[in-house]
Amino acid sequence: MDYVGDVMKLSQRLQYILEQIPAGSRLADIGSDHGLLPVAAVSCGRVPQAVAGEVNDGPLRAAQKQVAEAGLTDRIAIRKGDGLAVIKANEVDVITIAGMGGALIASILEQGKDKLVSVKQLVLQPNVGEDILRRWLIKHQWVLTNEHIMEEDGKVYEVLTAVPASESSLKQDDLYRPWELPGSSLVLTEDLLIQLGPLLVKAPNEIFFLKWQLEIRKLQDVLAQVARSDQESAQQKQEQLRKQIEQLEEVLACLPKDRQ
Ligand code: SAM
Repeated sequence: MDYVGDVMKLSQRLQYILEQIPAGSRLADIGSDHGLLPVAAVSCGRVPQAVAGEVNDGPLRAAQKQVAEAGLTDRIAIRKGDGLAVIKANEVDVITIAGMGGALIASILEQGKDKLVSVKQLVLQPNVGEDILRRWLIKHQWVLTNEHIMEEDGKVYEVLTAVPASESSLKQDDLYRPWELPGSSLVLTEDLLIQLGPLLVKAPNEIFFLKWQLEIRKLQDVLAQVARSDQESAQQKQEQLRKQIEQLEEVLACLPKDRQ
């Protein structure tokens, strides 16, 4: 029986993450909480076995219950610990870390760098701070092979898949090489590509536009607040925010919308 397919429904977000895991991999899901992802991955036959890592007791118990109910205690090891401390070097091929901030995911990867030697793929789903994670990946020679942006229950999610630079035909320099937007003099610099996502911006979907329209609105709210301030630094901050808003508006206006 495919426990997740038959007994419970996986969210679209977790389903997408699951589909990024190469079949037959040895998987570790870090910050697994309810353990749904490893249960689904083993239960549908995508991976033979998995490790579910959790640092907190409540979620750890939820994962234990889930795995027991699915009858997978012999194939999913639930381990308590901080980040990648729950796995040994060379133990897994794929690591998934989902549903946390980009800064926390980057710090988990940074602290567990020595465990990444055998890892062939990272599937990461930061709730915020995607740019922080992209910077970590660049610094540590992980190349993005796929970026996906989606919406579920009113929330926007990005899923980033990366492989070691040595395993990738795509080079970091090519991914982040600045390019000029057609019909505009605006250049998508490395910084802008890190912010927007170098692959997302190449084929922007409806949700990409929605996300950045919302971000522009947030920046406009901040600008209105700063404009009410009589602090000396407010003028400079206003200028910076205006420039940022104008830049993002121009990007959205010039990106192709025919692929939506
Ligand atoms: N990965 C699941 C998902 O995407 O649906 C659960 C996401 S949940 C919001 C984040 C989980 O990460 C929590 O259960 C939390 O306890 C766990 N967590 C946070 N920091 C962690 C760390 N350093 N190591 C392991 N787990 C961590």
